Amino acid sequence: MKVGLVTYTPEKVEGFDLHVYYSKRADGSVFPAAREMQNDVTCFCDAKAIREDPSIVAVSKNGPALRKNRKINVPFDFVCPTNPEYRAKVLDYVEGLGRENVEGVTLNLYHFPEEEFCVCPRCVKLWRQSGLNWTEWRAQEITSFLKEAKSLVKGAFAVEMFPDPVLAKERFGIDFERIAELVDYFHVPLSARDYLTNYWVDLLARDFVKVLKKPVVVELSAEMLTDQKTDALLKTMAYLSTHNLMGVLLLVHDAENARQVCKYAVNNGAFREWLRKVEFSEMTRIVDEWAKLY
Ligand SMILES: [Zn+2]
Repeated sequence: MKVGLVTYTPEKVEGFDLHVYYSKRADGSVFPAAREMQNDVTCFCDAKAIREDPSIVAVSKNGPALRKNRKINVPFDFVCPTNPEYRAKVLDYVEGLGRENVEGVTLNLYHFPEEEFCVCPRCVKLWRQSGLNWTEWRAQEITSFLKEAKSLVKGAFAVEMFPDPVLAKERFGIDFERIAELVDYFHVPLSARDYLTNYWVDLLARDFVKVLKKPVVVELSAEMLTDQKTDALLKTMAYLSTHNLMGVLLLVHDAENARQVCKYAVNNGAFREWLRKVEFSEMTRIVDEWAKLY
């Protein structure tokens, strides 16, 4: 199992095999390509673009896909995925990354906000013209966007998703079967404030490994750690290491944050003894590697 990082700073850290950098983010900020890293591109969530032109937001009968809309529950502000100008802007950015020496591109938030979106006049017209039912039309829109994006990517191509293994197609237009034909691997974020309760991580990891027809990496949050939270995080990683995953990614603020996790694992005798006793051989190997560096 590989171990990797998801970071807000374009720097690699020793002891990790995969490096994902947030190069285009949901608040609308856009950064130059991080060389030799996997560049993570937020596609249709862009709070800044929506502030500048509110007409581009995705809409439903319960109103727009905005965090401030209390009738719905969306974590970000969503642009309508069929907006041709905005779509071209995202694809331009992806094409630009392809001109740099990047490891690859991961797309994030490339889908509809929820099942009832989007009913803007353009989407309704496109849906009627397609002759497909609502679910199939929305899935086809998203898959065709991903196909176009993939054609511009050099290196590894991956996608993130909302961690819903059952209703992804109905809710977001995410068709795992079709998308598996396009990607090198799937990146499943299982974000949380802590992993003191972690049965759901195990549950979702198993479901996604079973459902997705390509390798899977699981992302865990590793920001703002206390000793107790770090201990729970490392034990959750140990349980994940027993599944058939391509890797586990840790979301950190910066390189120092990542080194702290390694040092905590290396210097925690009780944890390393627990790994040996429960026979987590893969996680033992990872911590032994960190011990050579930290
Ligand atoms: Zn629309």
